Amino acid sequence: FVQWTPFFQTYKKQRYPWVQLAGHQGNFKAGPDQGTILKKLCLKEEKCFKVLMDDALRPFVPEYKGLITSDDGECSYIQLQDLLSDFVSPCVMDCKIGVRTYLEEELAKAKEKPKLRKDMYEKMCQIDDTAPTDEEHKIKGVTKPRYMVWRETISSTATLGFRIEGIRKSDGTSSKDFKTVKTREQVMKEFSDFTESFPHAVPKYIQRLKAIRATLENSNFFETHEVIGSSLLFVHDKYNANVWLIDFAKTLKLPDNITITHKDKWKVGNHEDGYLIGVDNLISIFKSILEN
Ligand code: ATP
Ligand code: MG
Ligand code: MG
Repeated sequence: FVQWTPFFQTYKKQRYPWVQLAGHQGNFKAGPDQGTILKKLCLKEEKCFKVLMDDALRPFVPEYKGLITSDDGECSYIQLQDLLSDFVSPCVMDCKIGVRTYLEEELAKAKEKPKLRKDMYEKMCQIDDTAPTDEEHKIKGVTKPRYMVWRETISSTATLGFRIEGIRKSDGTSSKDFKTVKTREQVMKEFSDFTESFPHAVPKYIQRLKAIRATLENSNFFETHEVIGSSLLFVHDKYNANVWLIDFAKTLKLPDNITITHKDKWKVGNHEDGYLIGVDNLISIFKSILEN
């Protein structure tokens, strides 16, 4: 009796290189199944993925495949669809969406005992020495809440409702150095470089972003959550281009008595996240690239 194995099965599919554009390196590892990744468990994020699997947004987020605990029982992970697995040498861009990237509660906590921070003052001066007020220059310190609000204005976050977190281009080079990419023109330049030699990607990105925009309007999840620090992940190769919503570690259910539009101006306490401002600007900028 000889067990017959079709010969194509004797070739193990080669593991493709994976790229992570944000977060701590230790937070991710390859999943046990081909085409999956593991992200360190955050209970709030796991809750979001569970809800999203039954939401209109499901086609636009990585598939959630459940919880996994490491052999030593020390560490739990969520198992997610690897969005890169169907691409050949993919180009990848992470854009963090929203007009702020911290939670209301983080700001409130920073305000509890607002000590003067010399380190934050110095970081501020490094990027823009005209940013501190005369008073702050005199005392060589700023408070943490002041620093948190200011930090969102050095990139496009506060004005365009998104910022570039990281880009991996087709030549294999990647960069996270976009902290001060702020104006529409600067962003457009980065998007043009990102899609250079892949003109087919631009209309596909626009189409997908429009589908995301339309689905957000019908999503119960989106209606009931404040979406902070979440990203849109752009992926293209020679053949294809696609966009997904990722990273829900800071996405919170809104308090029962609060509804938001996702596009009104944020004021302390109103929970507005500016998510739709970001999506609309992304669509508009990719459209400008198409017209050029
Ligand atoms: P941070 O909060 O600093 O943004 P994080 O630890 O919450 O980081 P994520 O933002 O979820 O992590 O992911 C970090 C990076 O890992 C993304 O920018 C992307 O490059 C990659 N990544 C995350 N999820 C997926 C996925 N499902 N498929 C492919 N790549 C992914
Ligand atoms: Mg992220
Ligand atoms: Mg995160």
